[in-house]
Amino acid sequence: MSYIEMKGISYKYPVGDGKVLKDVNLSLEKGKVYALIGANGSGKTTICNLIRGFIPHFFKGDLDGEMLIEGKDIREWEMGDLAQKMGYIFQNPFTQISGTKDTVFEEIAFGLENLRVEVPVIKERVTEIIKLFGLEPLQNKDPQQLSGGQRQRVSLASVMVMDPEILIIDEPTSQLDPQATEEVFKIINIMKQKGKTIILVEHKIELIAEYADWVILVEDGKVVMEGKTKDILSDIKTVNHGVMLPQYALLGYEMRKTGRLNEIPITESEAITV
Ligand code: ADP
Repeated sequence: MSYIEMKGISYKYPVGDGKVLKDVNLSLEKGKVYALIGANGSGKTTICNLIRGFIPHFFKGDLDGEMLIEGKDIREWEMGDLAQKMGYIFQNPFTQISGTKDTVFEEIAFGLENLRVEVPVIKERVTEIIKLFGLEPLQNKDPQQLSGGQRQRVSLASVMVMDPEILIIDEPTSQLDPQATEEVFKIINIMKQKGKTIILVEHKIELIAEYADWVILVEDGKVVMEGKTKDILSDIKTVNHGVMLPQYALLGYEMRKTGRLNEIPITESEAITV
């Protein structure tokens, strides 16, 4: 039994015309890092919404097919149980900080306080995460005064302190500079080492190459390709089939040819076009 499984999933939001997911079949194992890639509007966030249970619990619409978590249909899961199982990290680190806490320590403790966990236990768990993520220098700072990269690291810590099994991370570094990006990914790597199942929406190919075990390419609501990261990134044939986005395919080709990952352009504007 797969940990997370989609069988023949099609979905249409209540608003808007047409299906945004079309016969999606996916099987995700525990403890792996999955990169969801694809153009804007291809359906990546919708897949994340489905895994979180927001579809069909909050977004109604028309859902066909089977969406199973630990073998149990998403429709039968209680949202509260799903919420405990999953952590979600937003694209914009500025929206994840509560804005009500005076220090980073308190900010990270916030979720546990809401669950009315006993104070000594909260202190222990927050201290442990701060240490694990190397956030000691920030722990007494005002969360509002942090840089974007620091906020994103604190966001990750706030989610991780809840000890979720599954982490859904939607373009965590799209608004960060390269150094902050690297620091955020160091933390994602720690989460990976802790055996978390990670679903990562990410565009930066060198991050995918380094951290993802498996790549899933979504186009127009369909999974058009998936496989081991190194196989997908080096599959030049996909250019000829016109399936992959040119930058992904060409970057994969360049990577295989030169072996110089760091010199490969990574942003869309810098990418080679065909
Ligand atoms: P991606 O994450 O790959 O950019 P999305 O899953 O956000 O793609 O979007 C897939 C399609 O679903 C797009 O056409 C988008 O306009 C549409 N869509 C996304 N969210 C909603 C919504 N809440 N209501 C209606 N349509 C939506």
